[in-house]
Amino acid sequence: MNSYIEKVLNEFKVKDASQPEFLQALEEVLTSVEVIFDRHPEYEKMAILERLCEPERIITFKVPWMDDEGQVHVNRGYRVQYSSVLGPYKGGIRLHPSVTMGMLKFLGFEQIFKNALTTLPIGGGKGGSDFDPKGKSDTEVMRFCQSFMTELYRHIGPDVDVPAGDMGTGAREIGYFYGQYRRIKGVSERGVLTGKGLSYGGSLARKQATGYGLVYFVLEMMKKHGMTPEGKRTIVSGSGNVAIYAAEKAMQNDLKVIAMSDSKGYIVDENLCLDTVKTIKEINRGSLCDYPALAGHGTYHEGSVYDAELNAEVVLPCATQNEINKERAERIIRNGCVLVAEGANMPSDNEAIHVYREKDILFAPGKAANAGGVATSALEMSQNSMRLSWTFEEVDEKLKGIMKAIHAQCEDAMNQYDLDSRNYVAAANIAGMQKVIDAMIVQGDY
Ligand code: NDP
Repeated sequence: MNSYIEKVLNEFKVKDASQPEFLQALEEVLTSVEVIFDRHPEYEKMAILERLCEPERIITFKVPWMDDEGQVHVNRGYRVQYSSVLGPYKGGIRLHPSVTMGMLKFLGFEQIFKNALTTLPIGGGKGGSDFDPKGKSDTEVMRFCQSFMTELYRHIGPDVDVPAGDMGTGAREIGYFYGQYRRIKGVSERGVLTGKGLSYGGSLARKQATGYGLVYFVLEMMKKHGMTPEGKRTIVSGSGNVAIYAAEKAMQNDLKVIAMSDSKGYIVDENLCLDTVKTIKEINRGSLCDYPALAGHGTYHEGSVYDAELNAEVVLPCATQNEINKERAERIIRNGCVLVAEGANMPSDNEAIHVYREKDILFAPGKAANAGGVATSALEMSQNSMRLSWTFEEVDEKLKGIMKAIHAQCEDAMNQYDLDSRNYVAAANIAGMQKVIDAMIVQGDY
């Protein structure tokens, strides 16, 4: 390993020993960009890596809120403002009981390079809370969101930091966040949040963007590697925002989606009915165990879809981090998988990625493949600044162009650094990181 990278990794392993997801992300990124640091030994003296890996600022705060019975609860809120070198901090707010500062640092760190790949002027950040919106009434969620924003508002702004949705934060939560921000500030700063409703500054196609963008990226990969989508059996894990629209675009392009999942189990159906999944998840906020009865076909099973013996050539993990470990990676490959593209952030752990490389699987890391969401958030910001709204088709067309451009940047990095044409991990990390480093240097960022 490059000695500078090794030194920095070891320092962070000591300093952040209690943040396993952050260390995992750090290792995944840094070990794949050695060629940059071999070519630029001067970066060590400039402490480029230390500056890049340390967030510019982390804000933590209490979030007290009252439930419908009058009981007061206190959750912990965070905003990790990682890098503003390329533009305002940009990244979602995750609401999930598993949220910790280390998890948000992993997500924020990845976000810097993902945002750089979009070529749009946005820096990297991430926020969230260990609050669980599941099982809460709308009024409880509203009181939580209002309390969260009562602190967060002083740290964000259209040119400062622009949060968005993530796990547990959908249109309902963004509405409550925005409403509270507007009431406190007394101004209409629509560009302060993205993922907004259409009536108050949201963008058409934002909801679909991450999932659609993922499939646009997959189609580019297939084209480059002489594959076609028609009839390819496909597993999409998750059934949230990313998974549903990945499945929709996959089906529109003749991929055959045969399984989807949620946090409790998975469905298998040769004639998968996505409308039923949408009803269960987007309207009822329910569980996929209701699917067979509502759809009239298909089966439901408890546990992870990656522990099932399902024959599929394409796998699109769109649920959460670390869903696929070494054993599961070996299983999906045994069952015919030739292409994995990540809709979620870090759904494959480092050992799984190693297995993909060993077995020559075409693998697109989330940083490149799921960047369509944040790219469309940046398009929402542009529309807010210009005070106009593009049509669905206009936004979708721009999204397609951005995903193609991200793929082209990966190809450029492959050529420039003589990488294997399947090594999208190194290519995406190199392309994203080099852009950030160049901007740090010209801005004298120390
Ligand atoms: P949602 O909250 O809408 O959906 C998450 C899905 O994952 C749900 O189906 C949920 O199940 C399932 N899930 C949660 N925990 C687990 C678990 N431990 N095992 C299996 N399944 C689980 O989130 P999003 O779709 O917005 O986000 C999904 C992923 O995509 C995240 O990694 C996020 O960071 C990433 N991402 C999201 C973007 C966006 O635009 N929304 C942009 C880029 C990346 P259940 O329904 O039971 O809760």
